[in-house]
Formats: sequence, structure tokens, C-alpha cells
Amino acid sequence: MEIASVIVDVPTRQTDNAYDYLVPSGFEGMVVPGIRVIVPFGPRKVQGFVVGLKNSSDVTKLRELDSLFDIEPVLNEELLQLGDWLTTETLCLKIAAYQAMLPAALKAKYKKFLKLNTSIDKIDWNLQKYFRQNVMVDFEAAMEHSFAKLFKKEIDVGHIEVVYEVKNKGNKKTERSVRLLLTEEELHQAKQSLNKSARKQIKLIDFFLEHRETQSLQKLLQVSGCGESVVKALEEKGIVEIIQTEVYRDPLKDREFTVSNHLPLTEEQAVVFESVKNSMMNHEHEVFLLHGVTGSGKTEVYLQSIDVALHQGKEAIMLVPEISLTPQMVKRFKERFGDRVAVFHSGLSIGEKYDEWRRIYRKEVQVVVGARSAIFSPFQNIGIIIIDEEHEGSYKQEETPRYHTRDVAIERGKYHHCPIILGSATPTLESFARAKKGVYTLLSLKKRVNSRPLPTVEIVDMREELRSGNRSVFSKLLLEKIQDRLEKKEQMILLLNKRGHSSFVMCRSCGDVTQCPNCEISLTFHKYNNMLKCHYCGYEERMGSNCRACGSDAIRYFGTGTQKVEEELLKLMPEARVIRMDVDTTSRKGSHEKLLQHFQSGNADILLGTQMIAKGLDFPNVTLVGVLSADTMLHLPDFRSSEKTFQLLTQVSGRAGRHELPGEVVIQSYTPDHYSILLAAQQHYDTFFTHEMAIRRQNLYPPYFYITLVTVSHEDLMKTIATTEKITKFIKSGLSPQAIVLGPAASPIPRINNRYRYQCLIKYKREPQLNEKLKKVIEHYQQEMGQKGLQIIIDQHPQIMM
Ligand code: ADP
Ligand code: ZN
Ligand code: ZN
Repeated sequence: MEIASVIVDVPTRQTDNAYDYLVPSGFEGMVVPGIRVIVPFGPRKVQGFVVGLKNSSDVTKLRELDSLFDIEPVLNEELLQLGDWLTTETLCLKIAAYQAMLPAALKAKYKKFLKLNTSIDKIDWNLQKYFRQNVMVDFEAAMEHSFAKLFKKEIDVGHIEVVYEVKNKGNKKTERSVRLLLTEEELHQAKQSLNKSARKQIKLIDFFLEHRETQSLQKLLQVSGCGESVVKALEEKGIVEIIQTEVYRDPLKDREFTVSNHLPLTEEQAVVFESVKNSMMNHEHEVFLLHGVTGSGKTEVYLQSIDVALHQGKEAIMLVPEISLTPQMVKRFKERFGDRVAVFHSGLSIGEKYDEWRRIYRKEVQVVVGARSAIFSPFQNIGIIIIDEEHEGSYKQEETPRYHTRDVAIERGKYHHCPIILGSATPTLESFARAKKGVYTLLSLKKRVNSRPLPTVEIVDMREELRSGNRSVFSKLLLEKIQDRLEKKEQMILLLNKRGHSSFVMCRSCGDVTQCPNCEISLTFHKYNNMLKCHYCGYEERMGSNCRACGSDAIRYFGTGTQKVEEELLKLMPEARVIRMDVDTTSRKGSHEKLLQHFQSGNADILLGTQMIAKGLDFPNVTLVGVLSADTMLHLPDFRSSEKTFQLLTQVSGRAGRHELPGEVVIQSYTPDHYSILLAAQQHYDTFFTHEMAIRRQNLYPPYFYITLVTVSHEDLMKTIATTEKITKFIKSGLSPQAIVLGPAASPIPRINNRYRYQCLIKYKREPQLNEKLKKVIEHYQQEMGQKGLQIIIDQHPQIMM
């Protein structure tokens, strides 16, 4: 008797454990952990993941599983274990953890087919009838049948393939192909029966006798030297058919990559590389924190470490923040490792992502470069995992499962006995503190490659500018320097740090600020379409000419959007060629890349943009970086606001003077004496660390304390407060006196989309009971969360406090 333990796709706490199903005899031997199956669940049929097999069960009346959803496991042993770990760590459901590890195309809503990859007579004759009419057969229809095992055999040897129907937002590429309809024997007969004068047709048949697989029509015409009419003639005789097939999607195929070789390492780089290599050679799990100033050559160390893994016959995962997954970055990996690299970025369609996943699954590639979710790449023999810009907030997933990529990487590293590199010029306090305690191994690159100097940084006090009558967003100093670069034909980057600094609309008569009717937040003004927009719920309204509160026409917008800066810049310097990069100019697929290429090739003098231009860019001709407003992020209600400001300023400064030309940075600020600004200007990471750690210790924040944030939201305010209060009390009751439970308190954004938001904040050092308590909270409110519109979000180690 074969019994499968299945985690069913029913997203409730009550069903979050494995159910046993009998494997029907037709499927015996085909059910393995990691495949998905369709099972009866109550009156319904649902999908589920097989997590184990056994010969007996405590359940007396076992039901049979219905059919197979996969032939090969989509999750391997390790990833199934990792799913369990995710469940414990983030308190998510098992089914949510498993699904988070798969590409979107593999989710249930996409239809699946069996595709014939060879000529029909090569497969078991029992199956041939399925493919007479079409190369594609509906997967479910075939799997229900008693031929499942035969199908599996053919799939195992590659004659038949499982493919997903993925709609590619209308850009699915197809080409015409020619498919042989006859067996070898039938083909010989057909050849005999042809008139000897049909020389070209005979020639084509001869070709097919040697190459029986489906051919691209275009290629066939080329190699055989026949015209399309000849193929058509064979089609009319029922020998071949012309079909539409999908072209393999290769997101990078249009680009040419030249091969690059290892650079001889600098002394500092060599020391770092040797440590990593040692750990790899000894197959040790070790976490390295690589603290290297901008331009110190961290990427070259990554590349050579990955090369070690490849020589060991192992695989490598290279993670970068989405925003720095630029063509420049990808190019460096493609040039070094060629087609052994798969790339994941958000610009890929669902189909393209699936193709890349499949290349990993089939071991066609050994290196993955990608953003957060690439950490779940189904490799089986990982030699190294690298997380570049480890301080980036985007490594935390802000939806279920709320995992931090760093933690997942370390967990995988333990399993594979391989090292992890966390790299950054501005490591998080958490990571640096761990390195100082010896939990991580600290490696440093203190100098830029070729001893290029770090840029000189000047801070401009914008209050002084205002006092001296300059109301522009540009200080005199910055303007002078921009002018100077324009004359010298050098390039510049101007950063408008927009987060928490949207352009809001205010009435100068009564002071009314136009708010979103659904959220407690002011609306942002978009000049290009004269609309006011809420960035939290999407609400939009036309910008009126009179105040809604008092009717005055003295309304104007405050704050500085990128558009406004661009206009002002062009007024002051009409000759400047400016590229503006923000959400408005980069929303179309590929536009981000185009704008950067435009700048790179020297078609513009100034790259003006938001946070998205601060990271990872390397332009040789950039000699000036200007930060228009350094302090806009400092005053956010978030204990990390100083740290984030320091990181951003350091990163953006690092964009200047990376090559032969020396760089300069101008930072404009209204709080020029703030330590994050002063220390970022001096690029003094260590001093910043010490200073900020003291503040964290005093306020009981990470890395001294862990935090967990519980956010409750509901349409009814009283209900929201009452529920948060109950939860706060309940949690408090089970923790030690050292734990601090704060709340209920209104969230920094107290209402979003007409839902009130309250929170409970838990700070603790060691609370073994906490997870159980939190689980109980979710279980208790399960029913209400399902029906009554109550939402409870539990975020362990939150990155966003809003
Ligand atoms: P980081 O990632 O630390 O900011 P990069 O890896 O981008 O730094 O290196 C900065 C520049 O120095 C790049 O143009 C890179 O090609 C170059 N570089 C790195 N290592 C070497 C080396 N060993 N010899 C010569 N040039 C190097
Ligand atoms: Zn809103
Ligand atoms: Zn008014």
C-alpha cells in the first residue's frame, strides 16, 4: 500500500498539516515528494504538494488521490525542508511557503500540456494515438488515463515534455515549423509512390528520413535548398504539416557579449578572495560580511568566487537588489560566464521567468543572477551564495511569507555546506554587529581599485541659501559646479531623494492640505496630467483651481518633484541635456534600460532621478554628484531613518569619480549638522556605526533587541482598537518581564483605503514563547479574518514600520 502525505491548497490554519491519501495502483511508483497532485477535499477537488510517502496511516478511511499534477517534482527535498523552515520563521502557512518558491507560471491557473518532441513512431505505440492530431495533448486528460506510467517513461527519456501555456502579454513569439506525420516506414513508401520527376519533393523526404524531428520552416528551406511550394506539396499529400511553434524566449539574445577574463586582483582583493576560496575548498558553511567602499572591486571578488564554485562542479546564486539589476551588472556576469548564467529580473514576462527557471532545473545553467526570489533557485549543489548591497530593504519580502533573503540564504548555505558573502559599502547595523561579535567573518576592502580617491564631498546649508535670498532648489555652489561640468563636457548625476517628500498641495489662505479621502495621507501632485494622486490606494482627482475648504485661488503645490526640478534646471541652463528617471518616465518595460544607455553613450549631460539612480551604476564620465535634499528621509517615523539616510548618501556619492576623472559631491541639506549627513560626507562608516549603535542601545532597538510588529486593520475604528488591545494584552501575558510590548497605537499611516490601522510592537531579546503566542493569535482570529474583513499582519523583524 502506497500512501502520500499531502499539504492541500486550502489556505487556513486548520488545514495547515499533511493529509493522507491512498495512491491508486495506476500511479504507484510515480508519486514522489515534491510533485503536486489533485486530491478530493470534502466535496471539492484541490491541488496539493506531496511531502512524504509511507505504507500505513492512522486514518481509517483513506480516500484515493485523484490525479497527478506533475511528473517530476517541482520542489526537491531541500526546498521542501526550506518551506517548513519558512513556515516556522515567518508564521506563514506551508502551502504559502511552497508556492512562494515556484515561478508564477507553475501556479495552478496556467494550463499544462504534454508535447511530443520527437517523431511519433519513436514513442510507445499505446501513446501514439494521442499525438496523431496535434503535438500537444492536454495534460490532465492524459494523466487521468491508465497510461500515466507510459507517459512518464517517455518524459524521462525526453521524447515528451511537459509545457505550460503562458500568455505572454501578447508578445509570445511563434514561428512556422514543419512536422513529419509519418513513421519511417510510411515515409519510405511515400517516397516510392512519388513521381520520379518530383525531384525536390524526394530530396525533402530524404532530408526527413535523416532528420525526423520538427524543423523550423525557415531553417528547413535554407538547408534543403527547396522552396516553400515543395513543403506545401508534401503537406497536401499528408506527409508533413506546417504548424505554429513557440520560439524559445531568450531575454538577452539580441545582445552580443564579448568574453572577459579574470582581472589580476589587487592585494586587498586577493586577501578577501583567499578567505572565501578557503572556505569553499573546505566545503564549510561560513557567512562573510564583505565591507568594501564603493568602487573597491567587490564585484570582481564575486566573479572569481563564483568561478571557484564552477570549477568545483557546483552552482552559484548571485543576488542583487532589483533596482541595481541593471544591464551593466548583467553584462559583467554574461561576459564572464556566457550562457551558463540565468538572469531573473522583474522586466521578464511570466513565460521568460519560467524559461529561466527551467534552465536551472535542467542544470543547463550554473549561475543565477537575480533579485530576491532567485534565492529559491532549484539548484541541487550550491557552492556559494552572494548577496550584494546586503543593506537594501528590498531583500525583505513585504507580503506572505515575510522572509528576509539573508536568512533564507544562510539556511540554504547550512544545507549545502557553502559560504555566503554579504557585500556592501554600508552594511546594516545588524550584520556589522554580528561580524564584530564573530558570528560573521568580516572582510574589508578599504581602498578603491587603482587607489582612485573617494570623491570630495561638500555640504551646503540650504537655510543659509534661503537667508541670502536664493529660493531655488539649487544652491549657488551646485549651480557653479554644474555649469563647470557642462563646459568641460563631463557628466553629472542629480539625486532628488523623494521618499517621504511628495509634492503636496496646500492652500496658502487657510493652510488646507489636500488629503486622500480614503487614506490619512496627502495627495501627490502630478503635473504632466494635472492630477492629484494617492500612492497608497490609487485614488485620483483633478487638481482644481480653488481651495476646497475656503474657495481661495491661492493654492499651490509644495515640495519638489523631479519634473519641477527638470523645468527649473532647463530655465537656468537651457543648453543642458537632461535625462529624468522616476516612476513616470520608467513605467514602460525597457524604458529604464533605454534611458541609462542613452546617458552612458554620452547623449545627455545630466541624469536626474530618484533613489533608482543611486545604486550600482558605473559611468566613467561622471565627475559630479549632487544631492538636492539630503534630509527628506531623516524625519520619517522609522528607527532606521538615520541609517537609511547614511546609506543612500554614501551610495550615491560612490557614483562619482570611479574611473580616471576624479569626482566631487555636493550635498544640500536643511540639517547639515546631523551625524548621518556629516559622516556620510566623510565616508566614515565605523564612526557612524558606533554612534548609531549607542542610540539603538538606548532606545532598545535592533540589533540590541529583536522586534515584531503586529498590525491590525478593519473598516471600523472601534473594532480595530479593541482587537489590537486584546492582542496586546494576550501577548504581554505570556512573555518575560524583559520583553517590551507597546500598544495599541495608531500606525504611522493610520488609515489606508478606508481601513483603520493600529499596531502592537514587541521588543525582545529571547522569548521562546513568542512564536506560539503569535500563532495562537492567528488561529483565534482565523474565522473573522476570513469573513468579517479583519486583517492581522504579523511581521517578524520588520523593515518598514509604517
Ligand atoms: P564595487 O562593486 O565595489 O563598487 P566594482 O566591482 O564595480 O566595485 O569595481 C569598480 C571598478 O574597478 C570597475 O570598473 C571594475 O572593472 C574595476 N576593477 C575591479 N577590480 C579590478 C582589478 N583587480 N584590476 C583592475 N580593475 C578592477
Ligand atoms: Zn488613498
Ligand atoms: Zn483654503
